[in-house]
Amino acid sequence: VDTIPGAARATAARLPDKVALIEGGESWTFAELYRDARAVASAYLARGIGKGDVVAIWAPNRREWILAGLGAHIAGAAITPLNTRMKGMEAGDILRRSYAKLLVCTERFMGFDYPTMIAGEDLPDLAGIVRIDGEGADGWAAFIASGKGADDPAVDAAEAAVAPDDLSDIMFTSGTTGSPKGVLHSHGNVVPLFRAWAERVDLQESDRYLIANPFFHTFGYKAGWVACLALGVTMLPMAVFDVNEMARLIETERVSFIPGPPTIYQSLLQGLAGEKRDFSSMRVAVTGAAPVPPVLVERMRRELGMENVVNGYGMTEFGAIAMTGKTDSPETVANTCGYALPGVEMTCVDGAGRPVAAGETGEILVRGRGRMIGYFENPEATGEAIDADGWLHTGDVGSIDADGYLRITDRKKDMFISGGFNCYPAEIEKLLAAHPAIELAAVIGVPDERMGEVGKAFVVLRPGTHADAAGIIAWSRENMANYKAPRSIEFVDELPRNAGGKVLRTALRER
Ligand code: ATP
Ligand code: MG
Repeated sequence: VDTIPGAARATAARLPDKVALIEGGESWTFAELYRDARAVASAYLARGIGKGDVVAIWAPNRREWILAGLGAHIAGAAITPLNTRMKGMEAGDILRRSYAKLLVCTERFMGFDYPTMIAGEDLPDLAGIVRIDGEGADGWAAFIASGKGADDPAVDAAEAAVAPDDLSDIMFTSGTTGSPKGVLHSHGNVVPLFRAWAERVDLQESDRYLIANPFFHTFGYKAGWVACLALGVTMLPMAVFDVNEMARLIETERVSFIPGPPTIYQSLLQGLAGEKRDFSSMRVAVTGAAPVPPVLVERMRRELGMENVVNGYGMTEFGAIAMTGKTDSPETVANTCGYALPGVEMTCVDGAGRPVAAGETGEILVRGRGRMIGYFENPEATGEAIDADGWLHTGDVGSIDADGYLRITDRKKDMFISGGFNCYPAEIEKLLAAHPAIELAAVIGVPDERMGEVGKAFVVLRPGTHADAAGIIAWSRENMANYKAPRSIEFVDELPRNAGGKVLRTALRER
């Protein structure tokens, strides 16, 4: 069961009639989902797509995304998920670089028409497009009909040949710090790691899991539908993040488990604006992927009734690394990313590569179960990221305390130096979040004649509050070390973010 198809098959046998998926008021059982994915696998095989091939999927979270992905895995193929916010050239680049043979996409989403957007791109390997919501010859129904169905013996043979060392996916990184890199993972990397993840975050078979994280990201795909299939958890995929829809689903569908970046909880708090809703079914809220302000954890508990908030650290290159656990205190959740998952090792090293003492800051290195095989067709980047001892150099700076709890300081690349002192934007942003009028802040380093660099803060004010730049600067000087206090403030309505909800400091630097 250490492959994605193996896990899905075992759950379909164990809990055939349990509801696996709820979407638009309809539901499907684990046996149905697995069977439907086998029919998809047969259609891939009929087109000659199997082991060694890549299928690209470009669609919002929905049932057919899972069928396209699981079907590809059953046929022995790897998948490349595409970010739904990408436009033609960006998607073309990833389709070309992954050598995708087939693109499974929706016709339209967020106002874009996917198939026509890539029409002008040079894609020599792409042999076809399947439109999930299309009616004609390249529509979903015609695609399924082109196979021999769920009982196709060729599917049995292909599925039996899928091994833990086979490639499961090439996912491209979020591109927060540069252009996206293709990351290679195997089935044996994915399944055991996310079982360990589920245990740590206390995901239980009785849970109802709202998948608000996009399927094109590790957390929506592997910690999302793959974990649900492996554990037998009922899932509710959410196509577009919408605060009202989310609140409605939690209430009416009795959702008990949600993971998402801090922004979704921030939006929920903002959108509800104090309105009381019945979230009593909520058991666990998992957050991470970006720094989590302590005030947010407090507000989630107090205003949303989300008692059990879990923080976690992970990346495309390693799936999940460290998470807090259900017995951790609120302070620990807000201020750390928890401790390493079983099978994962973490350490922090100084500039010379020597391990630093407990509590000291250094670059975070990780190795063990869940590490990527490498970057796709990029031995140079792979060599820079993975050293001879198997450690993945994360590019994140942090510290590990005596109890093994990880604290993220920031990304190495975002650090700036003011008057000789290292400044980490994430830390300054957390401090700024304590200002009563500040809803959100993003900090970057800007050149300064005297100090080399100084901080500049982009600030979103809380609705109904007032503050001026001079006031915030004066407050900062009182509440943080002088070299950290921003020297200029720009008020903005919102911060630029990527699809994963992360603030794009690069975009702020370009302004
Ligand atoms: P790219 O590598 O293309 O620049 P990216 O690093 O944002 O993009 P992901 O792999 O999606 O792409 O994100 C992983 C990064 O997210 C980590 O390296 C880390 O910087 C950040 N991160 C993840 N979890 C946390 C957390 N709990 N707290 C703070 N930062 C986090
Ligand atoms: Mg990265």
